[in-house]
Amino acid sequence: MTSRTDEQEHALSGPQPAAAIEAVDVRRSYRFGDTTVEALRGVSFTVAEGEYAAIVGPSGSGKSTLMHLLGCLDRPTSGTLRVGGRDVSQLSDAELADLRNREIGFVFQAFQLLPRSSAVDNVALPLLYRGVKAPERRERAAAALTAVNLGHRLTHRPTQMSGGEQQRVAIARALVGEPRILLADEPTGNLDSRNGAEVMRILEELNSARGVAVVLVTHDDEVAGRARRQVRVRDGLIA
Ligand code: ADP
Ligand code: MG
Repeated sequence: MTSRTDEQEHALSGPQPAAAIEAVDVRRSYRFGDTTVEALRGVSFTVAEGEYAAIVGPSGSGKSTLMHLLGCLDRPTSGTLRVGGRDVSQLSDAELADLRNREIGFVFQAFQLLPRSSAVDNVALPLLYRGVKAPERRERAAAALTAVNLGHRLTHRPTQMSGGEQQRVAIARALVGEPRILLADEPTGNLDSRNGAEVMRILEELNSARGVAVVLVTHDDEVAGRARRQVRVRDGLIA
């Protein structure tokens, strides 16, 4: 067996952490009727493996538009976006959905859970899209709920849970496919400070203990200050 020297190891792994997402001069405009809104006007942004970044900026500045692009929920009007090494402009809609399912978990401000489905069914849904069989779906969904301290709420529906619990179900759903990147758009925006702090503690632990890259949008200076990197968006540009 040959063993590598530290120098060789360094040359192989490279000095920089790999880019999980790379956006270069990305623009996104929305057209309705004869009006065009340029929500992003040329943004370059890299999400490194394992990093923790906070996106801040005024309402309407383009933060959610950027998150939707990074999360493959939308496509840029122009510019280059690479996710997991794939140029999204080269992918069909089905391939883009597949890439999103494998690489990215997304958490919304308003939770976006199915109100009539149990916590475990909500969390198992992304695995259904990936063709995972029912018993394994259930087992993995239960494990993800346990990881967000909701092992005792498996059969509760969203309407039977507090806002903080609902957001933790949404985090479990984002995690169940074991993504390398978690994107959270104002995840504490609808929560009181105690539930917000619990959600933030979970996101921080996912990053530090599991190495999941976390990018979140927040209006809370304290939340932003705890991230390793702050990115300010203003009027469709990164300031
Ligand atoms: P933020 O998340 O920072 O509040 P958004 O990315 O939601 O900002 O919005 C940026 C700009 O794009 C705003 O002017 C907003 O009105 C506009 N916008 C966002 N989504 C749409 C859409 N689906 N159709 C038309 N305009 C939109
Ligand atoms: Mg927004």
